[in-house]
Amino acid sequence: MTTTLQDCRALDAQDLLAPLRSHFALPTGVIYLDGNSLGVAPKAAAARVADVVTREWGTDLIKSWNTASWFDLPQRLGNQLAPLIGAGKDEVVCTDSTSINLYKVLSAALNIAREDSPARKRIVSERSNFPTDLYIAEGLCKERGLELVLVEPEEITAALTSDVAVLMLTHVNYRTGAMHDMAAITAAAHAQGILCVWDLAHSAGAVPVDLNGAGADFSIGCGYKYLNGGPGAPAFVWVHPRHASRFWQPLSGWWGHAAPFAFTPDYQPAPGITRYLCGTQPIISLSALQCGLDVFTAAQSLGGMAALRTKSLALTDLFIQLVEERCAGHGLGLATPRDHAQRGSQVCLTRDEGAGVGGQGSGAYAIVQALIARGVIGDFRKGDGGTGRHKDILRFGFTPLYLGFEDVWNAVEHLRQVLESGEWQKAEFNQTHAVT
Ligand SMILES: *Cc1c(COP(=O)(O)O)cnc(C)c1O
Repeated sequence: MTTTLQDCRALDAQDLLAPLRSHFALPTGVIYLDGNSLGVAPKAAAARVADVVTREWGTDLIKSWNTASWFDLPQRLGNQLAPLIGAGKDEVVCTDSTSINLYKVLSAALNIAREDSPARKRIVSERSNFPTDLYIAEGLCKERGLELVLVEPEEITAALTSDVAVLMLTHVNYRTGAMHDMAAITAAAHAQGILCVWDLAHSAGAVPVDLNGAGADFSIGCGYKYLNGGPGAPAFVWVHPRHASRFWQPLSGWWGHAAPFAFTPDYQPAPGITRYLCGTQPIISLSALQCGLDVFTAAQSLGGMAALRTKSLALTDLFIQLVEERCAGHGLGLATPRDHAQRGSQVCLTRDEGAGVGGQGSGAYAIVQALIARGVIGDFRKGDGGTGRHKDILRFGFTPLYLGFEDVWNAVEHLRQVLESGEWQKAEFNQTHAVT
């Protein structure tokens, strides 16, 4: 049975999460399938930021550190975020960027793992992990004379040998949308005495995560993707309570001090997760992030992450089905696993090398550009040009907070038209820009 536009409208009519869309300032004429890269602005953000600037900063000035509770905003937002990732109270802070938080936790994890076993000299990660994660690990390895070992997903278990200190993985892969079994991999690593650092950049707010249930050691994640915190929003960091008060994190700034306003010349780390703060926090940005988190708090009464996950899988299943039914014969493939247990909240389509204009490249970039010109915003991630296992990818993120089933229908209809008309072959869609 093929699915029709009427079927999609019927699904929207039954969708209990549909009212959440009204929390977002979605531009008209846009189907936004890039919330995995930069989330949509919550409607509340503009007024909230204006209030912080004009009243809290403008009028109340320095008093606001106390009167507007600026000082503990990283901890308060961490507590608001915690249920989304299976963290407990006072185990998370929102602060700094994902890259910087990774440096902090990876450094702490290496200290802990190597305290007992100095012979452990390796960090293992996935070759297709997001590059900044690999670059941060590479930098730490250089600094400390350690080795970064990169493997394919199916090689991870075999790479967990007695000389490994830390396994550093991203839970949902940014290119393919493939999701790891966090509990199983963490258990396998722990059985070899290896600590686990999980990057939740494509998981937090996208799929239910249970860090404590999985017994994970350290975690970080992004505020501007599925959490809708705004461009460059503060990221988050979680450390299991069994590790949080061991070792300094390397960026031992005054906001991580036990008593910053004692102004003592020596560093005394605060107990718990607060020591993972470094310097004065970006209050305006944190205030915008709070508006993103507030939508998840509103979603609690509608079933929370479990309900969002059910809808996300229904949206991605529908997208895959419609692409296969309606866009067949145009050289598209599926990079994202069909198995729900292995899928995040995005769908990535591949296109073969040689399918581009004049047999050059894959044409995937141009197809994405033609879709963007029609208001269907996804993105493109470059493959290895046919030299290895990664094809060019058309990447579509599905945010159940603000997307409906008719949106999926319309997105696929635009894709069908772009492919059948050959409109993607126009020169204007084949010019590359700095940010893809
Ligand atoms: C998006 C993303 C980041 C981003 O890091 P920034 O420090 O915010 O630039 C890091 N890691 C992964 C896995 C990501 O997907």
